[in-house]
Amino acid sequence: MSAQIIDGKAIAATIRGEISEDVAKMKEQYGQVPGLATVLVGSRADSATYVRMKKRACAEVGIKSFSNELPEDVSQEELIAVVQRLNADPEVDGILVQLPLPDHLDEEAVLAEIDLAKDVDGFHPLNIGRLSMKFRDPLFTPCTPRGCIELLDRMEIPIEGKRAVVLGRSNIVGLPVAMMLLHRNATLTICHSRTKDLPAVVREADILIAAVGRAQMVKGDWLKPGVAIIDVGINAIDDPTRKRGYRLVGDVDFEEAKEVAGYITPVPGGVGPMTIAMLLRNTTDGKMRSLGME
Ligand code: NDP
Repeated sequence: MSAQIIDGKAIAATIRGEISEDVAKMKEQYGQVPGLATVLVGSRADSATYVRMKKRACAEVGIKSFSNELPEDVSQEELIAVVQRLNADPEVDGILVQLPLPDHLDEEAVLAEIDLAKDVDGFHPLNIGRLSMKFRDPLFTPCTPRGCIELLDRMEIPIEGKRAVVLGRSNIVGLPVAMMLLHRNATLTICHSRTKDLPAVVREADILIAAVGRAQMVKGDWLKPGVAIIDVGINAIDDPTRKRGYRLVGDVDFEEAKEVAGYITPVPGGVGPMTIAMLLRNTTDGKMRSLGME
C-alpha cells in the first residue's frame, strides 16, 4: 500500500486564491481591504525572514501590511504602547507579534494586550482559554494548528469519533491542535517526552499529528494501516549530496510511513505552506467579521 500524499503546497495555493477573491469582493463592496500589522522586536535573522515572508504573502492576496520594527532593548511599556496604538488603528485588522520575544519581555502580558478581535495569531489567553473549553468558540485559532485541521478537512478525512494521537504539547502547536481535534469530537491522546511506550500509543491512531522536532522519529512499524499523518516537524539532517549539505525532514520516517499510512504530508510541502495561508485567512476573516460580511 502506498499512502495518498497530502499536498500542502497545492491546498495552500487554493486557499490563497479563495482569500484573494474575498479581498476583491470586499474592495468592491466596501472600498476596504484587510490590514495586518507585524511587530518585530530585535534582529533575529529567522524572525526577520518569517515577517518578510508573511508581508510578501499579504501583498500577493491584496492584504495591506504595516511594519513595526523595534530595537532589541525596547521596554515592555514601549512595546505595549505600540500594540495599543495598533488596537486603535481602524486600518489594522490583525496584529502579529513575532515570537519569540527577547527574554526581558513578558510574552504573555504582551499577547494579552492585543485586541481580541485582532488576535490573528490566536495566542491571546482568552482565545486559548475558549479553545480549551467545551462548546466555547475562540475568535481565532493559531495558524499552524488550524492548518493541520484544514489539511484533514480538504482531504475529506473524517475527524469525529476517530482516535487522534498528538505528539508534542507545546503552546504553539501540540496543545492547540489537540484542543481543536477535541472540539471536532475526536477521541484524543496527547504524548510528550515522558510518555511510556510511544510506539504502542501511536499504533492506536487513526489520525496522527507529529509536532515533536525529532528527525524521522516515528517509524513505519509504529503505525496502524491507513492512518492519516500530519507531520508538523521541521528538522535539518546532514545530506552531503545536497549543495547546502543538509535537507529538511519531518518527525515521521516518510519512506517507511508511506507504505503503511492512508494519507501523509511531506516535509517540506505539507504543513509548512499552510501556516502563512491560515494567517491570511484569519486576517481576512477578522475584517469580514468587522464588516458584517458572511
Ligand atoms: P517544542 O520543542 O516546543 O515542543 C516539542 C514537544 O515534543 C514537547 O511537548 C516535548 O515534550 C515533545 N517531545 C520531545 N521529544 C520527544 C520524544 N522523544 N517523545 C515524545 N515527545 C517528545 O516544539 P514546537 O511544538 O514548537 O515544534 C515542533 C516541531 O514543529 C518542530 O520541528 C518545529 O520546527 C515544527 N514547527 C513547524 C511549523 C510549521 O509551520 N510547519 C510551525 C511550528 C513548529 P515535553 O513537553 O515533555 O518537553
